[in-house]
Amino acid sequence: MRPEGEDARTDPVAARKRMVEVQLRSRGIEDERVLDAFASVPRHRFVEPAMRLSAYGDHALPIGEGQTISQPYMVAVMTQALRPKAEDRILEIGTGSGYQAAVLARLVRTVFTVERVPGLARRAQAIFAGLGIDNVIQRTGDGSLGWSRYAPFDGIVVTAGAPRIPESLREQLADGARLVIPVGTGAHQVLRVLERRGDRTVERTGEACTFVPLIGREAWREGSGS
Ligand code: SAH
Repeated sequence: MRPEGEDARTDPVAARKRMVEVQLRSRGIEDERVLDAFASVPRHRFVEPAMRLSAYGDHALPIGEGQTISQPYMVAVMTQALRPKAEDRILEIGTGSGYQAAVLARLVRTVFTVERVPGLARRAQAIFAGLGIDNVIQRTGDGSLGWSRYAPFDGIVVTAGAPRIPESLREQLADGARLVIPVGTGAHQVLRVLERRGDRTVERTGEACTFVPLIGREAWREGSGS
């Protein structure tokens, strides 16, 4: 018998299939388009070579610059909460490794993504190019202000923890669009999902989560920690 986990080393396709079944479908991710995207994006390409063996594990991993690639399940929860449709234009704040953007790129027409750390933005760009992903548009800067040039968006996902909901992001939602954002004090947050309905927004609270801090004008101040 092969030892448990060996196929993650030798067969990323099998490792992804198992990740989808064991970590995602069995925990309530049921959107088949979302599950297919997770089965096809090569997560191991978004981590350092030394970490490839654990790329499909049920956890976050460091990606350098003190940042992390999120746990597959959390990426899936956020992706499903956006209810992505093929013609959508989605804004992501916090490109990080680029993995979440690559998953979204398989599901929607265009992904706009903003990263504050230039080295991470460059690294993600190289990975997108290497994988032939051509529907992700990137910018380096403070994503707590959104990206007004391309607004409104059909969905906005923030992959860093915010102290409150940035007003700029709320304003950049199209009618019917959703904002998915971890909000909390300190290192722990709760996922919040806002949907714009005309002039109103309706909101629900989702899972507890742990993200690195969102640092910016409408977020945490640099140096204030989380
Ligand atoms: N979505 C990523 C995970 C990102 S970790 C992935 O799939 O790998 C959170 C990222 O948010 C970090 O890279 C951090 O540098 C970035 N970040 C923090 N504050 C930000 C801001 N105001 N604007 C843009 N990016 C920010």
